[in-house]
Amino acid sequence: VNMVPQNPSAALNPSIRVGNQVAEILRRHEKLDRSATRDRVLDMFQRVQLADAAGVLQRFPHELSGGMQQRVVVAMALITSPRLLVLDEPTTSLDVTTEAVILDLVRELIHVEQAGALYVTHNLGVVAQVCDRVVVMYAGEIMEDGPVNDLFAQPLHPYTIGLLNSVPRPGQDKRKAGLQTIAGQPPALRDMPQGCVFAPRCPLAIDICNTHPPLEQPAEGRLVRCHRWQEIASGTVSVSGKRQTGVEAVAIADLQREPLLDVHHLAKHFPVQRTLIELLRREPPAPLRAVDGVNLGVQKGRTLGLVGESGSGKTTLARVIIGLEDRTGGTIDLLGADIMGDVHQRPKEKLAQLQMVFQNPQNSLNPYLTVGQALRRPLIKLAGMKRGEADREVRRLLEAVNLRPEYARRYPNELSGGEKQRVAIARAFASDPALVICDEPVSSLDVSVQAAVLNLLARLQDEEDTAYLFISHDLAVVGYLADYIAVMYLGQLFEVGYGRDMFTPPLHPYTEALVSAIPVPDPQRQVKRVRLTNDVPNPRDMPTGCRFHTRCPRKIGAICEQELPPWRDSGQGHHIRCHIPLDELTELQHGLVIQPEEEPPVQRRTPRRARLALVAFGLGGVAAGAWRLWLERMRRDGGGT
Ligand code: SF4
Ligand code: SF4
Repeated sequence: VNMVPQNPSAALNPSIRVGNQVAEILRRHEKLDRSATRDRVLDMFQRVQLADAAGVLQRFPHELSGGMQQRVVVAMALITSPRLLVLDEPTTSLDVTTEAVILDLVRELIHVEQAGALYVTHNLGVVAQVCDRVVVMYAGEIMEDGPVNDLFAQPLHPYTIGLLNSVPRPGQDKRKAGLQTIAGQPPALRDMPQGCVFAPRCPLAIDICNTHPPLEQPAEGRLVRCHRWQEIASGTVSVSGKRQTGVEAVAIADLQREPLLDVHHLAKHFPVQRTLIELLRREPPAPLRAVDGVNLGVQKGRTLGLVGESGSGKTTLARVIIGLEDRTGGTIDLLGADIMGDVHQRPKEKLAQLQMVFQNPQNSLNPYLTVGQALRRPLIKLAGMKRGEADREVRRLLEAVNLRPEYARRYPNELSGGEKQRVAIARAFASDPALVICDEPVSSLDVSVQAAVLNLLARLQDEEDTAYLFISHDLAVVGYLADYIAVMYLGQLFEVGYGRDMFTPPLHPYTEALVSAIPVPDPQRQVKRVRLTNDVPNPRDMPTGCRFHTRCPRKIGAICEQELPPWRDSGQGHHIRCHIPLDELTELQHGLVIQPEEEPPVQRRTPRRARLALVAFGLGGVAAGAWRLWLERMRRDGGGT
């Protein structure tokens, strides 16, 4: 029995070359000599598709990317041909593109080695793509067990149904329906409820649920622990109600609003030390170009989603806009006036208009301030309120983010992850901002908590008419919340368009890879796979021509390496930067279509067919507006965008 742990960088010894770390296992278990050991390790590195396997043998963990480290750990786990492999969230810390490659690899190796695998994860998309059978656990008990196809087609436990409905699916839109959430929190394991452990959170709980439900067998190969599974199976009771966010439905032609934020040719270059070659050639050091001439526009009350892998520059862009980093070049106009300088130099009213929700609420809340003090601070400092008025506003803000008034007296360590993020959102809204930058605000949260926070963000935006710049690597989450989407790679934008266009060809080849890498929580869904095998290049050594050419699966030749690709306009508010014409891209990407969700996705009686139908949105006649204007300017500016 071998194990692949969650965090590969913590699993590898930083002071031993990775080849020796894997060889050590063989020497201990199989007593092989040095040369045979090296051959076996090299063979294993080749089987886990490590490029330059012989070179990787000699490297230390810090010289490998996250994806390469995880391949080494998988090689380590498979080197003794185990009968059972335990994988504990092996892709949670990886980008969606690397995750897809590792999942393909794990699936293939398990098949080739004929090993059994126990895959522990909170990601239902991964379960749907990798597993044959699934066991759903809650508070230490098995709630449901069955083959993946059957269980995803007809879940019988309210907890499973809640989990499946809380995941945003590609094409799902906040303006059509909200995400289903699971109320409350898991019980403390020292203070378990009597009867059904899920009863305090279950929308179907009745008197009989005060007795502990047995694990029953509703069908061959399936188990469920619920007193009401027959009613759920027959459809007499339903957990999946129609879910409203209260967000107004807007026709695509009416999405246009007046401009709020206008970022023009923004650049952020970090100085770095000279390399040895630069020193010998007496050249100045090449800067690290994290953001390299980006044009962006955000309109009042609308959401611009910014997507890309780690290292694409999206967080640096957000930090420059908010003023946590100074800019190397370009302008940032908020409500028509350039906001100069960093956060210390900006006037109070600009600070109030522009707020941010960070990825990790644990780090963004001061542990020594109560929730009330944390919320009162911006109300007094930025909104200029007196103490009494600020206290009343604290209560209103807590209510707006669905927290009771007594939370004002609690410290961050007394809150769950979801509650902390609600407080962080309330704090961002305290100064009545025009724009909130949300930097991966749900990526550290569980799926049901994530759904509640996404619903909350959608509702607050509608009520307060606040705009969002929403940054995420998860296209399904961005697609759910964003009206417009921009795709960023190596410091530049490569695609911009309406959120609801992002899952339908034509797509930029990079976006295509991101979309096809989404682990969709539907085992019936077949999406054509496009995998990116190389790592993101070092931004100090930018590729010439199209920056994506070193990884592009659709590269058409030398032109991609030599010439900057042009922006191509679909004529429907959708712009792609590529040498391939849009009609050719559409043809190449035939089959990469994800149909939008109209109805709650689960608690249906029969398995759904694979969705491969081409979806066309009625985009004709999109009004020319602010969005169009900045796209025009972006095209005019050419190269740097
Ligand atoms: S036994 Fe009752 S409380 Fe528990 S999951 Fe079933 S319906 Fe809900
Ligand atoms: S320009 Fe060439 S390398 Fe760049 S995305 Fe298009 S096809 Fe790929």
